[in-house]
Amino acid sequence: MVKRPTRLRRSQTIRQLVKETRLHMDQIIYPVFVVDGKNIKEEIPSMKGQYHYSVDRLLEDIDTLWNFGIHSLLVFATTEHKSVNGKSGAQANGLVQKAIRGIKEKKPQMTVIADVCLCTYKEDGHCCIFREDMEIDRIKTLDVLSQIALSYAEAGVDMVAPSDMMDGRVAAIRESLDAQKYEHVGILAYSAKYASAFYGPFREAAHSAPAFGDRKMYQMDPANQREALKEIQLDIEEGADIVMVKPAMAYLDIIHAASEQVETPIAAYQVSGEFAMLRQAVDTGILDQRAVYESLLAIRRSGATIIITYFAKELQGILDKEAGL
Ligand SMILES: [Zn+2]
Repeated sequence: MVKRPTRLRRSQTIRQLVKETRLHMDQIIYPVFVVDGKNIKEEIPSMKGQYHYSVDRLLEDIDTLWNFGIHSLLVFATTEHKSVNGKSGAQANGLVQKAIRGIKEKKPQMTVIADVCLCTYKEDGHCCIFREDMEIDRIKTLDVLSQIALSYAEAGVDMVAPSDMMDGRVAAIRESLDAQKYEHVGILAYSAKYASAFYGPFREAAHSAPAFGDRKMYQMDPANQREALKEIQLDIEEGADIVMVKPAMAYLDIIHAASEQVETPIAAYQVSGEFAMLRQAVDTGILDQRAVYESLLAIRRSGATIIITYFAKELQGILDKEAGL
């Protein structure tokens, strides 16, 4: 019998019928950046269409974001309230805590996830506390990370997202949340976070470049796949509810390998550099907007359940177009 695969490509409805991978807004997380102050909504120069928001202005836009189909937010902060050890991140009335409370009051259905790391709050911009001999002081670092996570939980966050890559931090955070009756607060762990050059525009957005050295002491080497699987496995054993691979497009093999190996939902972060490249190419007409759809579809097809992307605001429109609506 002659095989004719093109029979299933003859019309839009037949193609939709046999589509193996689908993108849906329900599985999209949109990252937002909050800053100190009031009445601020400033576009981030390297990330067109993305803003630095003061909490009041972010709240003004919450309904709009919801109407774009965005039902989950990942909150990042850029704050002047820094300290030597990062403990300023655990203040009950801190910037992220205010954002969490505000969003949950205004839109209780919105899932609020907040980034937990020390780099936002430490004067030197590193994700950990160093000992005098410049080795990582793991115990002190985990203690502050847990305090920050706990303060987010008190503010009403749905999930905390530790992005520091320190050994044992998922277990430490889980333990302190549980001890304070926050068993319901989830952990979305940045499990395989690579020391990537694709984070460039985010650093501008978060003003988070470290004052000295780099993050290769704790973020992963882009050359390694098996190590990623080990990190993911460890985070699951420590209590991660969702594991993350970051970045996404240059790491589809990692997402795929992880999806073959674990049953925990996998989130993939299409990071600022990936966004900026596509944004620029689409805006200058080098690529059609369909490239955005294709990039996200590929991330899903590789095995990610959830995608964190800066394209979230325009994605519903893109999906409607793709479906021929
Ligand atoms: Zn960090």
